Amino acid sequence: MNTFSVKELLSTNHLHQEVVVNGWVKTYRSNRFIALNDGSTINNIQCVVNFEDFDENLLKQINTGAALKVSGTLVESQGRGQKVEIQVKEIAVHGGADPEVYPIQPKKHSLEFLREKAHLRVRTNTFSAIMRVRSTLSFAVHQYFQKNGFFYVHTPIVTGSDAEGAGEMFRVSTLDAKNPPLTQEGEIDYKEDFFGKETNLTVSGQLEAETYAMGLGKVYTFGPTFRAENSNTSRHLAEFWMIEPEVAFNDLDANMDLAEDFIKYVINYTLENCKEDLEFLEQRLIAEEKTKPQAERSAMPLIEKLKFVSENTFKRVSYTEAIDILRKSKPNKKKQFKYIIDEWGADLQSEHERYLVEKHFKCPVILFDYPAKIKAFYMRLNEDGKTVRAMDILFPGIGEIVGGSQREERLDVLMEKIKALDIDEKELWWYLDLRKFGTAVHSGFGLGFERLVLFATGMGNIRDVIPFPRTPQNAEF
Ligand code: ATP
Ligand code: MG
Ligand code: MG
Ligand code: MG
Repeated sequence: MNTFSVKELLSTNHLHQEVVVNGWVKTYRSNRFIALNDGSTINNIQCVVNFEDFDENLLKQINTGAALKVSGTLVESQGRGQKVEIQVKEIAVHGGADPEVYPIQPKKHSLEFLREKAHLRVRTNTFSAIMRVRSTLSFAVHQYFQKNGFFYVHTPIVTGSDAEGAGEMFRVSTLDAKNPPLTQEGEIDYKEDFFGKETNLTVSGQLEAETYAMGLGKVYTFGPTFRAENSNTSRHLAEFWMIEPEVAFNDLDANMDLAEDFIKYVINYTLENCKEDLEFLEQRLIAEEKTKPQAERSAMPLIEKLKFVSENTFKRVSYTEAIDILRKSKPNKKKQFKYIIDEWGADLQSEHERYLVEKHFKCPVILFDYPAKIKAFYMRLNEDGKTVRAMDILFPGIGEIVGGSQREERLDVLMEKIKALDIDEKELWWYLDLRKFGTAVHSGFGLGFERLVLFATGMGNIRDVIPFPRTPQNAEF
């Protein structure tokens, strides 16, 4: 007898065969039906059991959450709701799950409750669907780049430079934290540390990816990134995965084209390959929306929203145009934003970003040519001397999903910037070498993978789209 996954059995290709399947009990009812799921699909296989034929002690163990091995004949189902079912001949219990203490019962649990059970929540329909979508999306990421001639570069997790300035860093050290060796000046003596200097977890692989783009041409990195963000938002994690392509000879326009094409590809791939999970998540959202006041409900169902993004051109707007729009806008009854933008040069807050996307343009927006003083040192200065070739992509319900730029390729301009910002140029000697030897126009972007998963699943909190979320005061698992 062959062992199959639930997904294979439901495909109906094995009708009338003797089959074996392993899985966890979702529900059982009328002493006759066991719904079994093994994680391969959102749907369960119905197992029809003549309970009289089985030992009482064995039957007692068949509770929600128990792991079973079931053997029998795959037949057409008489009942509604499923095409096939198993007429069970044998059951073996891998492991029971005492209903008195097993937390994941067949009822609706709150997302907050499930966050405390992060090791078990993947056994719920919602989390198994999210994690299958996440896996599919990550495959699509690699597929897109590999198909398009990019090389995957593994940039380091531990870095010796903290010049990027993208976020607060986590120190990596083998020194005794309570009693570190000190220099004569009373500062921590990193010479005694494992690497002989101060080291941190990476906040972005960009600078290293740039070095590889200047040799391999088209590269991407896709790995974990760490920021000691001391804020508890629904969009920030302390450990998240970032996708960072970098392309030699691409300017900002080509960079925007790449980002838009990439996002559309991975969303489309997910629409094609995660139909059932997306339908499930959409129904879940529709039920959730019904509990909200009308004004807060989302206008578009999940799948329609994904199709909309994959089929429509993103609106490209310069920072200066956006500021003009925001100054003239009346976002709500009170007719103003919480944070009023009164001068050119101010950084946009998420209320402004979301207004532009959700109310004004009603589509994803690419904002470009930001004021130099609110962006990182490595971005290409425009001829106006005030703005840089930066772009952010803003998404409905999310805000910023991508941050990217054309990089400053001119050594003299870069050096001036580094001096003005008081960055230690010795730390960046290797980065500056790229401008000394065979420099060229190049550009890239960073996309937070979890923000993409948030968008694709319609979930509202970033803690619910990564297996084990890392946030302030939370590293239980
Ligand atoms: P934000 O303004 O949301 O804090 P950022 O401008 O600090 O983001 P970048 O340095 O531009 O972020 O990083 C590139 C992308 O990485 C962002 O567009 C976002 O998608 C993602 N990202 C940044 N910080 C986080 C985080 N703490 N958790 C999850 N994703 C993040
Ligand atoms: Mg940030
Ligand atoms: Mg930002
Ligand atoms: Mg950014």
